[in-house]
Amino acid sequence: MTPIFHRKPEAQGQGMTSQRARDRLVERLRAEGGIRDERVLAALRSLPRHLFIDEALSSRAYEDTALPIGNGQTISQPWVVARMTEALIEHGAPRKVLEIGTGSGYQAAVLATLGLEVYSVERIDELLRNARRRFRNLGLNLRSKHDDGRLGWPEHAPFDAIIVTAAGAALDSALLDQLAEGGTLVAPVGDANSQNLLRLCKTPDGVQREDLGKVVFVPLVPGVV
Ligand code: SAH
Repeated sequence: MTPIFHRKPEAQGQGMTSQRARDRLVERLRAEGGIRDERVLAALRSLPRHLFIDEALSSRAYEDTALPIGNGQTISQPWVVARMTEALIEHGAPRKVLEIGTGSGYQAAVLATLGLEVYSVERIDELLRNARRRFRNLGLNLRSKHDDGRLGWPEHAPFDAIIVTAAGAALDSALLDQLAEGGTLVAPVGDANSQNLLRLCKTPDGVQREDLGKVVFVPLVPGVV
């Protein structure tokens, strides 16, 4: 039931970033978003997404929407983060995961919260520095580097799972090469107007490819800044 008294505005402001706001988002992802994996839902429930965006936007942190993080980039929509994470861990239990496109660090933090050993690569130095500060403040232990992620991270290959969070016109073969046998890769592929989320599973008989549907991501860009 809706309470008939009104809370003070400052209490409402805090409410926007409260545990209750996060719980409501997670219930929406479950009920309307079709997210089934309880491990993924628990990770989203526990991680404070508002700490991954600018304070001026924190009142919108628990809306199911992408938000700007500076340098023309965005933190992905929670449903997309949940869906990609679910797709990544559905078949088996990956241990080592490579992420391309650290951005705010939120997706990487979700993976680390799930207990995975996370390696994340970002091409924009300023974003990476902000993400690293967040990992430190939250006590999350993961490895990251400033580089062109299309090359992967060969020194730490093979990875049980690879997640790409920016859209390329095609899949980079270096990434598929660095995927372990039995491993899963999830990536948006397409141009600015039309992208599909693909899941590739490397099996002894070859690579199985699945289309998980339409998505919208910022582009995968060569080089570093
Ligand atoms: N996973 C991020 C999503 C950020 S948006 C999050 O949870 O917030 C995609 C990110 O990919 C941007 O930060 C962009 O700079 C980065 N990116 C684009 N092309 C890249 C490349 N070639 N190598 C590494 N990062 C790249």
